[in-house]
Amino acid sequence: KKITIAIDGFSSCGKSTMAKDLAREIGYIYIDSGAMYRAVTLYSIENGIFQGNDIDTERLRKEIDDIHISFQLNPETGRPDTYLNGVNVENKIRSMEVSSHVSPIATLGFVREAMVAQQQAMGNSKGIVMDGRDIGTTVFPDAELKIFVTATPEIRAQRRYDELKAKGQEASFDEILENVKQRDYIDQNREVSPLRKADDALLLDNTDMTIPQQKEWLQEQFNK
Ligand code: C5P
Repeated sequence: KKITIAIDGFSSCGKSTMAKDLAREIGYIYIDSGAMYRAVTLYSIENGIFQGNDIDTERLRKEIDDIHISFQLNPETGRPDTYLNGVNVENKIRSMEVSSHVSPIATLGFVREAMVAQQQAMGNSKGIVMDGRDIGTTVFPDAELKIFVTATPEIRAQRRYDELKAKGQEASFDEILENVKQRDYIDQNREVSPLRKADDALLLDNTDMTIPQQKEWLQEQFNK
């Protein structure tokens, strides 16, 4: 039986949509680990831990245990919203500002340690689908099903652009593409848990796939 499902891959490749839909269908908990790194980033922006692009790592290290992240189902969307110290930050953490500051925060070893510990504590015997970058490699190396998702940077930028536009947020395609490429680079080259496919993960390149096609493919892997 597949209890723990790890879905990793590049940014904006539709991992969350796939993971959320699967979790809902099979009645598992869904955790968006990227939202946790985004919440730490938002906290850092709002509390002056960022000075321009510089991070006051000593302050963040002291405050990391005071940053409480949780998820609560939003009955309107049927999906979980992210809470930072009790405040719903679901929209704020998806902004371009957070997107362009999150990768350096996610390179910090003590931030990763804190997040991984929280993520592991969310694992359970009833079933969990977690998406991110290091779920199959670090958080749940024993996950029964591991997927690694990729797509071209251009298609991923287009998807993020459409998503922001649908929410009425201003964004330039070029800026998003640049951000996607920059995050790929930082995520793949960081020292702690760099983004890579776990040896036993199934590879899914969804560049030319529709959302229903991906959904069907994932459901098949789960049922196998
Ligand atoms: O998945 P999402 O794009 O929302 O993640 C935001 C950022 O958080 C990523 O670009 C990556 O730097 C970081 N991240 C990570 N490990 C995870 C999930 C996200 O380093 N498990």
